[in-house]
Amino acid sequence: MDRELIIISSKDLYLYVIYEDGEPVELRVEYRELLKQSGNIYKGKVKRVIPAMNAAFVDIGEDREAFLPLKDIKNCHEIKPNETVIVQVKRAAISSKGAKLSCKITLPGKYLVLIPSDPYITISTKIEDKEQRERLKEHIRWLLEPFNENGYGYIIRTSAVEATDEAIIEDFLSLKHQWETILKSSKKKRTPSLLYEESSKIYSILRDYAGNFSRIISDDIKKLKEIKEYVSKNFNRQIKLEPYRKRKVSLYSYYEVDRLINKILNPYVWLKSGGYLVIEETEALVSIDVNSGSHCRHKTLEETAYHTNIEAMKEIAKHLRLRDLGGIVIIDFIDMKDEEKKKALIEQFKQEVKKDKRPVKIKSFTSLGLLELTRKKIEDSLIKQLTDICITCQGNGFIKSRYLFSFELEKKISELKPFVKLSIKVHPYMYKTAKELIRQLKLTSSVDIISDITQQINKFSIERVE
Ligand SMILES: [Zn+2]
Repeated sequence: MDRELIIISSKDLYLYVIYEDGEPVELRVEYRELLKQSGNIYKGKVKRVIPAMNAAFVDIGEDREAFLPLKDIKNCHEIKPNETVIVQVKRAAISSKGAKLSCKITLPGKYLVLIPSDPYITISTKIEDKEQRERLKEHIRWLLEPFNENGYGYIIRTSAVEATDEAIIEDFLSLKHQWETILKSSKKKRTPSLLYEESSKIYSILRDYAGNFSRIISDDIKKLKEIKEYVSKNFNRQIKLEPYRKRKVSLYSYYEVDRLINKILNPYVWLKSGGYLVIEETEALVSIDVNSGSHCRHKTLEETAYHTNIEAMKEIAKHLRLRDLGGIVIIDFIDMKDEEKKKALIEQFKQEVKKDKRPVKIKSFTSLGLLELTRKKIEDSLIKQLTDICITCQGNGFIKSRYLFSFELEKKISELKPFVKLSIKVHPYMYKTAKELIRQLKLTSSVDIISDITQQINKFSIERVE
């Protein structure tokens, strides 16, 4: 597979677009001013413990206190107000919420992820062959035992399969050194302070793919230099680094990233068969609805349903990555009665999500015929990262109908009786509706309707004019 990375820089942000065989498969956004990056490690002070919320609030020296869920405290040393804790940001702070923390520190390397507070050794479930998994785990445990006097836990990444023993030892030692440096500096530094900074998303992208890119193109020459240094230090690979110098067409336009972003923001995804998906995110979960096209090429309804579902499933696997959807995902496929076909769909789905770097677990069909899956959430979905709440509907996704608006206006006017003259301001969108109501109420001579663009669509303001 040919994999390329495009890095587009601007005053405020970086866009990272990953292409596989010429197709965009992932987009990551990095805001330059976002301080509380996922992965940062802080020495923080516990401010409050709130059992009802199952959480503690920790001062990490940023604007807002960060949130530490208590289910994580088994990894924390001490969790009383004013105690010092070493915490890692698991989700960066977003508009209204502070960062989400954990005491379970994870340090990702090329082949291993070090988890110092955990005594366990686990292995990526991506390596499917059970026997191979056990063998590799035992081998690496044996290999690292002499260097692991503190009994640190770690996860063995998929990339370890092809690594040499020396490379794995080197990776472990470098992670161990990194952690011990953090511990040392935590003893010296005051509370709160930053102990370790996950410098840029570029490094996590390079690590996720073990540097497996044939080409990286960027309009930021400085960034390319950093990458060159990092790659030569960490990966035994040749990556072609290509600066994109000032040209008439920006890198953004050249790769049509605007189209890609619009695709990500659109809840509708069209399928070649004529069917379509509707992808919606709510607070608790992501729901995906599969709809069949109008024309049926297959003999039976069951056949049509199966073929549309397979097509939809492949598209869903792509969109999970592209939109970076995380947490619980519920898919409403087209009904199929045949249990064998359901099984076949799940099996193929498991194959499709293998390309995904985030762990995806596909469950089974629920009694209502919905398919559940979970995908590890590391940060907010791209839609959340790229949008603000709609000012027209305040995020509801709907506004009051003209009938309801007119009804409310009529009732309000009648409550104000008797009056000499009223002046009512409405949004231009509701102007005709309000005018028509006043005409029907035969109040045109005593009520003025004023169209005002600053008025909220759902509301009106009434003033008595004496
Ligand atoms: Zn809206």
